[in-house]
Amino acid sequence: MSEKIKAITFDLDDTFWDVKPVLINAEMKTRKFIEDKIGKLEWGSWEEFKLIREKLIIEDASYEFDVGKLRKKLLLMKIQERVSDEETANELSESAFQLFFQERNKVEFFPSVLDEIEKLSQIYKLGCLTNGNANIQIIGISKFFKFNISSKDVSANKPSENHFHKAIELLGISKEELLHIGDHKINDMHGAISYGVQALWFNPNKEIWDLEDVEKPPEFSTWQGLTEKIDSLYS
Ligand SMILES: [Mg+2]
Repeated sequence: MSEKIKAITFDLDDTFWDVKPVLINAEMKTRKFIEDKIGKLEWGSWEEFKLIREKLIIEDASYEFDVGKLRKKLLLMKIQERVSDEETANELSESAFQLFFQERNKVEFFPSVLDEIEKLSQIYKLGCLTNGNANIQIIGISKFFKFNISSKDVSANKPSENHFHKAIELLGISKEELLHIGDHKINDMHGAISYGVQALWFNPNKEIWDLEDVEKPPEFSTWQGLTEKIDSLYS
């Protein structure tokens, strides 16, 4: 039996919009911007990226949860392969990162997301919990939310309890009065459930629930009608 809820938190990437095409577009435009200034570069494979990231995290743990800082550092390292002057390299990486960030926030919402968020905001307090760096002010949806907690704000990535704990604190409610909605089985669902908040799974691709240590939460696959569904599940 589900408890009555007072507030809802949402994951952003892949819950409100499909993030992959957004990141690919942002990355491609950023690379072109840099190459137009300093010539062609070899950008390396995903495996190489992961190795560099691991090394950076050993040097400075904040690279793990501050994706903006990580992105800026990686751009600077790339630029420094060609540009030896420190100030020039720093300036170029800063403007390249600003371009990336601008493009990263050009998202296309899944159908009905905006309608449902607006309706839900009239009934519940809403917040966002993200491991990424999407900016709800730039995207233009901040009016619906009390807060947007990023991993940088709480020095950890979901599924760690930090995001959920911070949300409870800001909302001044008990754990079971919060519902968290997200697409990710571990980061969103497992994280929320093991901390003690309620969870609703956005599962558009009809994935199988294969986690054994937590019970499968209720799920939905399209946004249309979500307000009514939440009303029937949690009141
Ligand atoms: Mg997500």
